[in-house]
Amino acid sequence: MKKVLVVEDEKNISDIIKLNLIKEGYEVVCAYDGQEALDLSLQVDPDLILLDVMLPAIDGFQVCRKIRSRSNVPIIMLTAKEEEVDKVLGLELGADDYVTKPFGMRELIARVKANIRRREFDAVSEVKADAGPSLVSEDLSIDFGRYEVKKDGEVLELTKREFELLKFLATQENQVFTREQLLKDVWGYEYYGDIRTVDVTVRRMREKLEDDPSSPRFIMTKRGVGYYFRRI
Ligand code: CA
Repeated sequence: MKKVLVVEDEKNISDIIKLNLIKEGYEVVCAYDGQEALDLSLQVDPDLILLDVMLPAIDGFQVCRKIRSRSNVPIIMLTAKEEEVDKVLGLELGADDYVTKPFGMRELIARVKANIRRREFDAVSEVKADAGPSLVSEDLSIDFGRYEVKKDGEVLELTKREFELLKFLATQENQVFTREQLLKDVWGYEYYGDIRTVDVTVRRMREKLEDDPSSPRFIMTKRGVGYYFRRI
């Protein structure tokens, strides 16, 4: 049975999430503040964490950072305001996903499933991963097996999601993908999330791997359609 840690100080919201997750066959543990979340995440070793941003004492952002510093567990942030969404997207918190309140239970469950499945898939592919450079262009090399991207010989710090998006695009070079397709294939949503997530991730990747992010050479925009990878 997969374990989900639900961190939410509003008891009525926590209860309804718990009820729905149990109905889907998950084991559920609830924390009602940030400290309890940190303690329980160690004690119960959950398969996924649903983490509210607004929590007493230690907020969800700090909790996310602390958990991420020692664990790869999938974390879905629950956000109430637009500013929080921007913060989740903008900060390198290490959260895997976010859901905006008020959310539908079907959507939340779909995200939980998608993120747990993705992590299982990652675990399998990490074992199978073979070393050796997989794609090399003029000044960029991507080693798919080692999750390593080098620009002019220097290793770039990409998040896992950034790497996955780069891998997806680079293995299908010159093929244009819409934001919706990318969200579905790279993020793995069963229900479409916010397509801004794709734009923000692309922007961050360009800042890391393009010489001039405003006139990219690798991750290209097809105006009115989406994005593609160009091999130089
Ligand atoms: Ca709250």
